[in-house]
Amino acid sequence: MECPKCGRKCFEGVVKAEQAGTLFNEAANLSWTPEYEKKKIIKKDALNLEKSGVGYYCQFCEKVYATFELGKIQTIFHDV
Ligand SMILES: [Zn+2]
Repeated sequence: MECPKCGRKCFEGVVKAEQAGTLFNEAANLSWTPEYEKKKIIKKDALNLEKSGVGYYCQFCEKVYATFELGKIQTIFHDV
């Protein structure tokens, strides 16, 4: 994959939640929340994700872009 920012080729790898002190544990969930819900305590439109995904590292921008599969079939944006 090419970096969305600079267009250079990214290194492909794996992104996952790992046990590290209290930051992550086995029960940790990974989710995606739309911008308009990110400050809400109860999130109606969040998507639950698998705990590991494919990550693309750009060494020039020093960023990782990742793709995660949904944990199960989910839909939001019902009105769209
Ligand atoms: Zn880049």
